[in-house]
Amino acid sequence: MSIGSNAQRLVAVPDAEESNSPQPRVLLNTAEPIVCSFCFGIGMEVMSGKGARRCRCRTLDVRAKLLDAARIPRRYSECSLSNYHPAKNNGSQLRAFNYAYRLVREYPAIDRGLLFMGTVGVGKTHLSVAILRELIEKKGVSCLFYEFGSLLKEIQNSYNPVSQSSELKVLAPIFEADVLVLDELGATKPTEWVRDTMMQIINARYNDRKLTIFTSNYHDSPYNQTEETLADRIGERLRSRLYEMCKSVVIEGEDYRREYDS
Ligand code: ADP
Repeated sequence: MSIGSNAQRLVAVPDAEESNSPQPRVLLNTAEPIVCSFCFGIGMEVMSGKGARRCRCRTLDVRAKLLDAARIPRRYSECSLSNYHPAKNNGSQLRAFNYAYRLVREYPAIDRGLLFMGTVGVGKTHLSVAILRELIEKKGVSCLFYEFGSLLKEIQNSYNPVSQSSELKVLAPIFEADVLVLDELGATKPTEWVRDTMMQIINARYNDRKLTIFTSNYHDSPYNQTEETLADRIGERLRSRLYEMCKSVVIEGEDYRREYDS
């Protein structure tokens, strides 16, 4: 492809390898307008003596937008695979890390998500967020994070008794995201409405062959008889569907937050 024909013919040049080219000044979350120091906003940058290419700011811009749209909670904004440290002598954490790593590496040639199960603070959310971050940064995938309870509340709040339906604008991003994290599956009191709604959401993604990653504090085989199982919380039908959609990955260990207390 070539652009222009006058004094200098501009030839398309491959996109910038960001690691070895200077980064433009991109200002996010400020009132100041973003004007790129390389392309001054036109989206193409001229490479002296070589031609033109898509400006490096556009790739960064796209990623910044994807990250913003993913709704990763601020508390987890720094979580990545590189700062997830499996506890010593803890095979389950290393295994969980490997599943996360593999998913990122193989996406989109992958047809099952992950279901991280484990007690509080073992790093389920950390790993799920890390997957989203890597998919956005390395592969430009559209991702979304939702704590399941908040999603159900948003759906409930948007319910319109006249049309007897919830607003599609709440659900559309859930259906459309290429990769979705649903955090804390089973945490909400399992009423009939909750179960039906969960089933609808999860089924819609399943039918569209979209990848979903779940976390849950509930297990299939609880540690004592008084504990509820994941199936008790979400229903047998949905648990069964999850077997098809996701690889179950149990993470064991101490609450990592205790580290902050020592
Ligand atoms: P869970 O979702 O299992 O309840 P989180 O992912 O919320 O646990 O982890 C709690 C906190 O501990 C988070 O700040 C998380 O970043 C950190 N954390 C947990 N496990 C690890 C780990 N293996 N390496 C680094 N940080 C971890």
